[in-house]
Amino acid sequence: MSEILRIAIQKKGRLSEKSLAIISQCGIKFGSDERVLKERATNFPLEFLYMRDDDIPAYIRDGVADIGIVGRNEMDEQGLPLVVLRDLGFSKCRLSIAVPHDFPYSGLKSLEGARIATSYPNILKGILEENTVSASFVEVSGSVELTPAVGIADAICDLVSTGATLAMNGLREVETIYTSTAVMIGRPEMGSTAKEAILERLLLRIDAVMKATSYKYIMFNLPVEHVQQVSALIGGLKSPTVTPLLSEGWVSVQSVVGEDRFWDVFEQLKELGAQGILVTPIEKMTE
Ligand code: ATP
Ligand code: MG
Repeated sequence: MSEILRIAIQKKGRLSEKSLAIISQCGIKFGSDERVLKERATNFPLEFLYMRDDDIPAYIRDGVADIGIVGRNEMDEQGLPLVVLRDLGFSKCRLSIAVPHDFPYSGLKSLEGARIATSYPNILKGILEENTVSASFVEVSGSVELTPAVGIADAICDLVSTGATLAMNGLREVETIYTSTAVMIGRPEMGSTAKEAILERLLLRIDAVMKATSYKYIMFNLPVEHVQQVSALIGGLKSPTVTPLLSEGWVSVQSVVGEDRFWDVFEQLKELGAQGILVTPIEKMTE
């Protein structure tokens, strides 16, 4: 049988949908029956294993899966000898310290001797040690926000994305100790050149998809005298494509612009007299 790469994906939760979306944007086709726990892509040598995110790092270490997608927090908490192959950027969250409103917090030192409830004792321990704070941990696997209210912890250390859950439970976020995004992880050595080759093909596609989503394609008309300024402003892959328009003194410009700079560029183009600005998403892109 020809070699296949096994990827572990969270079965159900905050990572599932976006993990599958990125694979699907790579043009890889697979079924969508939620009850299936193992399936093969139909047009790429990839097999999906669906499981709880906590189990993914150990499955990869043991060779049951070759690669997987987890929150960086999960990988760092478990501390297994795995490597980050790509930072996928989604499922952004932070690990924060939160305290009840009457807790006098003025920095990590305020946690000296406190009981802190968390599902991430290893990450927390590392940060507290760096700051020479000694505290005791109450390890819980869920509903961390409840623990101060029921008297088993003085503070918590939990994942936050908007902070709404903390506020609803009468807690105040006082310090971010760690930030996380979804990462694709694997073993330092794949153990098979055929698997390595498949992984390389997959990563090439993932890079193209990620690159594309971080850029926009932009087209607009511009008075010809501003071409040099615009070229310096937006750059493009090499330089912008400039074509003359029938109306004298005007050109049409096409280029790509990074999402992070987009509004800046847009405002400056308006100031330089750009008209008819069209912006479209890019599906795939390489440099
Ligand atoms: P599983 O049943 O697979 O063990 P889980 O309950 O451990 O699921 P989820 O709540 O689905 O996990 O979160 C998965 C990952 O999503 C987290 O490890 C984290 O990286 C990320 N994440 C993003 N935002 C948040 C948030 N607000 N709270 C918790 N996790 C978040
Ligand atoms: Mg989990």
